[in-house]
Formats: sequence, C-alpha cells, structure tokens
Amino acid sequence: MAQQRKDKLAKYVKKVKKNVDLDKYLDELSKVYSNWKQEDAEKMVFFTRDGTMIVIGSDDKGYVNVSLAGIQQILIANGSNIPYLKRIVHNHNKGEDFSKGDEDMYKVLVKYGFKGEFQIYTPKTGQVRTMDKSVATGGKD
Ligand SMILES: [Zn+2]
Repeated sequence: MAQQRKDKLAKYVKKVKKNVDLDKYLDELSKVYSNWKQEDAEKMVFFTRDGTMIVIGSDDKGYVNVSLAGIQQILIANGSNIPYLKRIVHNHNKGEDFSKGDEDMYKVLVKYGFKGEFQIYTPKTGQVRTMDKSVATGGKD
C-alpha cells in the first residue's frame, strides 16, 4: 500500500534538477513553462535552499491534486522538506492575483515551517507576484 501511494505520487513529479543557480530561477521557470499549451493546467515548482528544483504537475487540465502530506513525501524523497524551501511557485495563466485557496495554502505551509517566498508565475508574460508574508500572520506582523 505504501509503495502504491509512492508510485501514485511519483507520476506528479515531472522534473528534478540539481545545482540550479537560485539567482537565475526566472530562467529556470521560463524553461519549465516553455512549451506551455494547456491553458488551464497547473505546475508547482519548488526551489530548495541547496539549489534543487522539483517540478510537479498534472498531465491533464486542472490543478495539481497533491496534498500537503504528498508534497512533503515528494520533498523528502528528494532530500528536502518544507522548512528547507527557498521558493514555491505555481502558475496563474491569466495573471490574476493570489486566490483565497493560495492564501490558505500559504498559511498552512508557514505552520509547517516554510520561510521562503510563495509566488505566482504567469507563463505568457513572465510576470511574478510574491505573497505578502503578513498574510500568514493575519496582517499582525
Ligand atoms: Zn493560485
């Protein structure tokens, strides 16, 4: 059963790249989304503090259906975990601002020790938005 769950999660992992120059992460993102065709699909990209980039995504249209526990398992399998992430990025294809779901996810990640930047990337424009860290504290920083 545990193996079955592992296999199920593995199919979401699209790419793992080591020794990424974290100062040039926008170049890495533009490569990750370079053949972007599925307008409604989502990818999440994790950059760890030691320069590993992990890309998870769905093959079809829609959101990446991986729970926080699943994300943790994927990170641990790649020698990292939530507190060691420098940046988490997901795409909004039309460039909209963070959703309520994004804010909720960010709050939970912070509870699990996330100290990095939580960002939205718009593949068409290359625009990046960064979540205001005060969201996690309800504005009482
Ligand atoms: Zn979002």
